[in-house]
Amino acid sequence: MSSKKAVLFGLSGFGNTALRALRAAGYEVGLVLTRKEPGPFPYYDEKRLADEARELGIEVLEDPDLGDKGLKARIDAYAPDLLLAATFSTAVPHRFLGVKGRACLGLQPSLLPAYRGATPTTWMVLNQEPQHCGVTLYHLTPKAFVGDIAAQREVTIAADDTDGTLRRKLADVAAEMVREAAERLARGEELPRIPQDEKAITFFPKRTRRDGLIKFDEPTRNIYDRIRATSPYPGPYTYWGDREIEITAAEVVETGTFEVEPGLVMRRSGNSVVVKTRDGALRVETRPAITSEDLARELVVFSDHQKIGIPKKGLVGGIVHTRETYGIEPGAEEFPKMVVLATVYPCNAKCPNCPYTEGNSDIRLKYADAPFVDPAIFKKIADECGQYGSFLRITGGGEPMMHPSDMVALIEYARSVGAKVWLNTNGSLMPKEKADRLLACGLDQVEFSVDAADPATYAIVRAGLDWDSLLETVTYMVEERNRQKSSTNIVVSVINQDIVRDSMDQIVKFWLDLGVDEVIKRKFLTWGSNTGIDADHSADPTPYLDKTEGEPCPYPFHRLNIDSRGKVEVCGFDITGRTNLGNVRDQSIREIWTGPMFEWWRAKHAARQGGDIPLCRECPDWQYRSWTHNWEKVMRTAKAHRLRVIEWAEHEKGGDSIPAGPTPASEPIS
Ligand code: SF4
Repeated sequence: MSSKKAVLFGLSGFGNTALRALRAAGYEVGLVLTRKEPGPFPYYDEKRLADEARELGIEVLEDPDLGDKGLKARIDAYAPDLLLAATFSTAVPHRFLGVKGRACLGLQPSLLPAYRGATPTTWMVLNQEPQHCGVTLYHLTPKAFVGDIAAQREVTIAADDTDGTLRRKLADVAAEMVREAAERLARGEELPRIPQDEKAITFFPKRTRRDGLIKFDEPTRNIYDRIRATSPYPGPYTYWGDREIEITAAEVVETGTFEVEPGLVMRRSGNSVVVKTRDGALRVETRPAITSEDLARELVVFSDHQKIGIPKKGLVGGIVHTRETYGIEPGAEEFPKMVVLATVYPCNAKCPNCPYTEGNSDIRLKYADAPFVDPAIFKKIADECGQYGSFLRITGGGEPMMHPSDMVALIEYARSVGAKVWLNTNGSLMPKEKADRLLACGLDQVEFSVDAADPATYAIVRAGLDWDSLLETVTYMVEERNRQKSSTNIVVSVINQDIVRDSMDQIVKFWLDLGVDEVIKRKFLTWGSNTGIDADHSADPTPYLDKTEGEPCPYPFHRLNIDSRGKVEVCGFDITGRTNLGNVRDQSIREIWTGPMFEWWRAKHAARQGGDIPLCRECPDWQYRSWTHNWEKVMRTAKAHRLRVIEWAEHEKGGDSIPAGPTPASEPIS
């Protein structure tokens, strides 16, 4: 046991471990100079230095006047062998240093000359510092942090370290270093003196409370690091409107959701909430907690400034569905009126203006791992559509009838659970047996994509398919439907593209004469940057909506899209799956539809701010969406025609001719 004496300048934390290390090395600590600290040590479980020193019978001076000559005289009279500054609040003045026989050491929780400054651990965590984390013992000089290095030890920062856990680790290492150095001095050994490399200096200022302000419009990783770097003290925080919200824990949960507003609380998850960041999401626990009631009442958007969430009030329910007053379509408050499901990505055709055709996009390659929807997912979706009596629109990036499971059996299932079903098909894979079953199960509507009324045009616009086969299928289905008096609407659709610019009327007449219930004239869409399709092929570019005026897009107000992976996308424009509003494997469609992300999307459009959303801003198809909901008009018109035809046939008592459809083609729809 040495009979050495020490004086400690220190703050709670590193000061406590230094005090214990000095005593463990056999030093008598005659005086502790520290700061008057207002509350408990905030970083980890540790006594206040002043309390611990007093409990040990050591004299403590809090907030001492370092200029007081009496203090210098006291210390000189005590004649310490070692003066140690373990993260003191100021540099130790020169009058205490340079005394013969007195070693003067400083402790810095960084690898000097890196991270000079008062709170290096905050910045090391924030900077994901891989190289400059550790502890330095250095010879004190009147200028803080600059003396020669006596000892140094590296410490690794873990990916989930907070400022608190890192300080704890460094304090343990510092304790060993102080003890070893003190013992060497006690043995009369000299400590090394390695000058600091002035070229390698980095200096970081003292962290302030504002360094804990979390702005969710930054990358996920940066936010997560800032939360760690300011936890548990002074504590990360953000704002919900004017309310300050503390963040008490965080975890990176997902990436790749780009299209909703950063800061938007997307959902609750246990005691925490999942918040959108610039490039992903974080699960955070907050104080006060964001409750289910909060989320049900309004959109919650965390921000560093004024609240930007748009109240839900007025968006859902009670809104007259007109162009003047936009809002969710009556009947879609809880569940979309139409769920558009991409059942299949492969196709047996090579239509030149299809967004999925090779050369127009590589979307099929992106879905190479999920070319067909899992029948179990299909049934889950059908169940929920059935529960709400909504339409399940069977479509995709390919031909639905190519699904390796029996697509007709899946449709039969959907009908059996009460879902309304609209099948989009090219009609090439519809043998009579399948057509019969579709009619028998009450398929609500089959839409044959025909795009032509003669074999030559058909061979161009529906490349790879056979005109005669199409004609035979549609004819059979119409006749059989009428004979069976089945409730299936049979419609065809034609894309209004340049090749049919001058023949649209003849095409419509041809198919109505054949007996279909309706001919849908579809707008020519390009899907913007999702494809290489040229808008010049459109034969009818007249818009429905004034996008430049921010006239809201109706799609998020009545329908949603699901891909073959079960991922919900906001709309049919997002065929490459940029958005991710949830997955039906984990959540119900209702939850997703009424969740904060859809609400936010609707709020933006309802406020005529849809152009703020990157996806919508670049969406050329927005202008072709219609608030008159032409798809419902098609259903009504087709149904009226079907009933008239069947009624007429009844009157004719087995007459073998079916009247030419008197129904005019519907308004063009997108
Ligand atoms: S504007 Fe385009 S991208 Fe936006 S919701 Fe409508 S269809 Fe989708």
